[in-house]
Amino acid sequence: MRHFAVVGSGPAGFYTAEALEKAYGEGARIDILDRYPVPYGLIRFGVAPDHQSLKAVSKRYDKVAESAGVDFIGNVSVGRDVSVGELLELYDAVILATGAPHDRKLGIPGEDLAGVIGSAEFVGWYNGHPEFADLDPPLGGTHAAVVGAGNVALDCARILSKTAHEFEGSDIVGHALQALDKSAIRTITILGRRGPHQVAMTPKELGELGHLEAAVPVVELADFPPVEADEPLDPGLRKSVSILRSFADLQQNKAKTIVFDFFAKPVAIEGDGRAERIIVERTVLDDRGAARGTGETYEVPASLVVTAIGYSTSPIADVPFDGGKFVNDGGRIADRLYAVGWARRGPTGTIGTNRPDGYEVADLIASTMPPGSAGDRQGLDGLKRLLDSRGVMPTDYDDWRKIEETETANARPGSPREKYVRPSDWFAVLGR
Ligand SMILES: Cc1cc2nc3c(=O)[nH]c(=O)nc-3n(C[C@H](O)[C@H](O)[C@H](O)COP(=O)(O)OP(=O)(O)OC[C@H]3O[C@@H](n4cnc5c(N)ncnc54)[C@H](O)[C@@H]3O)c2cc1C
Repeated sequence: MRHFAVVGSGPAGFYTAEALEKAYGEGARIDILDRYPVPYGLIRFGVAPDHQSLKAVSKRYDKVAESAGVDFIGNVSVGRDVSVGELLELYDAVILATGAPHDRKLGIPGEDLAGVIGSAEFVGWYNGHPEFADLDPPLGGTHAAVVGAGNVALDCARILSKTAHEFEGSDIVGHALQALDKSAIRTITILGRRGPHQVAMTPKELGELGHLEAAVPVVELADFPPVEADEPLDPGLRKSVSILRSFADLQQNKAKTIVFDFFAKPVAIEGDGRAERIIVERTVLDDRGAARGTGETYEVPASLVVTAIGYSTSPIADVPFDGGKFVNDGGRIADRLYAVGWARRGPTGTIGTNRPDGYEVADLIASTMPPGSAGDRQGLDGLKRLLDSRGVMPTDYDDWRKIEETETANARPGSPREKYVRPSDWFAVLGR
């Protein structure tokens, strides 16, 4: 019997477990470890609550978790409760699927002022992430800014501008819904260092902004190159640019505006003890397509600043790390140690991009220890003994289901539904 430990229960972890199970069948036991007692990583704590069809991908992962050869082991933080070296003693291979949970910093003065929040924190707040459920972002001012030109920036701007009615059918957590409903924010400025041709925003997410109940997007046509210049763009980007252009035709007749401010590089955040304004430098594109500051600056008022400029992985002791992700060669970090998903590639791509990663690494593992070959490691039994000796109480599949059942029972009748148990109550639900 082979024993595999997949560390992290987001998409990358689940696709890897699925691939290993297919490759080894009954010849392997696969343990998916997570630091939380509930799985799915960013599917649960990152993907926007009003994008339920995307979150439904977890149904596929449910099937993996329910299969006989797979166990979900929650409440175990690798690097803290057990080291990677110890896992390698207990398992034939260890696959790190720990994602990239830390916000990249802007690196400008004023970034540490109150009211400046990374998107991982903000997104975690409205999705009920245990570390950010109590964030309480400042929503009392009229102006907010989101720094970034990707889909996460769009998620943040959209969530800030939706009405309570528009959250019907979502699984936004109750505390966020109540706070957003009382929000005074009327203008949300999206700051992008480069222009419309350089956005990493996809057509579907952009298109949504044109159909909001109480908010309308605003663009400056002067920021766009001539329409003919769109022709050579990739079809997806061309579509995004054309949706952005179409925003110029919308009537400005709604209470809130989402202003696209292109060629805009934040150089400082200022305020009296808390964010009040961003100092922005106008940029132009240089020959290589990078943003170059022009020296011309202006102010954008914002008492809430959400930065959405990328993420990095958490380092784990004794695992080579390049500052953003684990150092790996095609997913292999060292003998019997692998990385998949954002921990392998950095924070790019969609949920589906993690699937080939998982399958590729499973193939790599199968090439070094062919299915059918014997192993003599202890796997989960040994891990449980080790955790027990340290007073760490892992949770299992039944515990996860119990939390989910309580969440569903907590859902308020009708919409919007608050499918949520405060993380501080997770262990109370489990009777511990
Ligand atoms: C705000 C946001 C919105 C997004 N929206 C979309 C979208 O709409 N559509 C789309 O296709 N993609 C979206 N994505 C991208 C998608 O979420 C990622 O591609 C995907 O989640 C990456 O998968 P992963 O498994 O590598 O990491 P994650 O999903 O982050 O999973 C990592 C897991 O590892 C666990 N973990 C971390 N450290 C440890 C440790 N030391 N010990 C044990 N467990 C640990 C975590 O708890 C987590 O469960 C979004 C991303 C973000 C940030």
